[in-house]
Amino acid sequence: MGKLGDPYKLTELLDIKLGAHQEERDHPPMMFQPSGGMDQIPRAIEATLPKGTIQLNSEITEIKQTENSVTVTYQDTKSGAVKTITGDYAISCLVFPTLNKIKTDFRDDVIDGLRAPSSSPIVKNGLQFSERFWETKEEIYGGITANDFEESGTISYPSNELFSNKTGVLLTSYARRGGAIKLGNKSIADRIETSLGIGEQIHPDNFRKYFNGKGISMAWHKQKYALAAWVTWSRRNIIRKMPPLIEGEKRVLFSGNCMAPFHQGWMFAAIEAAWHSIEDLDKRVSKE
Ligand SMILES: Cc1cc2nc3c(=O)[nH]c(=O)nc-3n(C[C@H](O)[C@H](O)[C@H](O)COP(=O)(O)OP(=O)(O)OC[C@H]3O[C@@H](n4cnc5c(N)ncnc54)[C@H](O)[C@@H]3O)c2cc1C
Repeated sequence: MGKLGDPYKLTELLDIKLGAHQEERDHPPMMFQPSGGMDQIPRAIEATLPKGTIQLNSEITEIKQTENSVTVTYQDTKSGAVKTITGDYAISCLVFPTLNKIKTDFRDDVIDGLRAPSSSPIVKNGLQFSERFWETKEEIYGGITANDFEESGTISYPSNELFSNKTGVLLTSYARRGGAIKLGNKSIADRIETSLGIGEQIHPDNFRKYFNGKGISMAWHKQKYALAAWVTWSRRNIIRKMPPLIEGEKRVLFSGNCMAPFHQGWMFAAIEAAWHSIEDLDKRVSKE
């Protein structure tokens, strides 16, 4: 077995313009992963905020405005207590499928806009294996196997801890559209069994043999606080139905990934939407 060289520094990688060439609209050929997983990004942002800025376990149930204030009603999901908070403005970052279930006093054209994009269902399955057989037996180090099983679509191999003797987790399903609906309607045990059946066809004799019985499955469209993986705007509705949302309500601005006309389903689009909302709020306040 070879010996791993020293990793390149990030600055060295950026210098050779790695990933600068865009293969398609939102997938450059090379993308980086945050160490420790995607959620390290919001956790790092959270760590920079003053303590108490984020209040967890608070389910918003109503948004009500006057000419110069907005009141948000929410339920503490731990104690069950119903509380309200009033401010000059609110920036809503709720994903539209859940915002659409909340009682509001929004204008009709705003409600129409919030209902305009379609909701995309997604299911991901992750299975753990006692041996990293894709490395030890099949010489696969990272990357994906794109496949046309609608309840899988992708098998993704970890690019961390290569050559280790530890267990490894494969993303065995990244099911979309009809495949996501079909897989999402199954019990978690059946979803895992589906992954095993598909995986065994792609990696005969190894998939079931090395599966250590631990698996996880997530159907975003079935999660109460998501109801979709992301929303997708058609070009027609970006022009026809999005403008009232960009204009905003009397005292509520709309932000978050659902406000991205393009690149929905990417964190940077949510960050861009936040920049627009901050600018917008600044303009409104400076006029008062
Ligand atoms: C399967 C999948 C794969 C993805 N892969 C990538 C990727 O590789 N790279 C990338 O950049 N992006 C990826 N994304 C997209 C990225 O996760 C989103 O773009 C980003 O999280 C959007 O941020 P947001 O703040 O707009 O919304 P969210 O992160 O969804 O935040 C909305 C918040 O509102 C809360 N909420 C909902 N309803 C209520 C309520 N009634 N009361 C109170 N709170 C409520 C939710 O709990 C949630 O915390 C992926 C998304 C999915 C689903």
